Amino acid sequence: MSRVTVDPGRCTAYGICVGIHPEVFAVPPGSPVAVITRDVLSEDDLEDVEEAVRACPAQALHLIEG
Ligand code: SF4
Repeated sequence: MSRVTVDPGRCTAYGICVGIHPEVFAVPPGSPVAVITRDVLSEDDLEDVEEAVRACPAQALHLIEG
């Protein structure tokens, strides 16, 4: 089962990942970092999550495929 993680030391909460896949990524009001709202990714999530990993300007997202 694949998962995605956010490195809180790198994330700047700009929210590009949220724009790409708002069902997996969120930046709650007041949060300094993005959070992952879906622990286990579905097959349908993977394409957008891979795009978010590539698009993150802080290189804060890591996809763990399994
Ligand atoms: S795109 Fe990257 S830096 Fe921006 S909120 Fe998402 S994880 Fe954080």
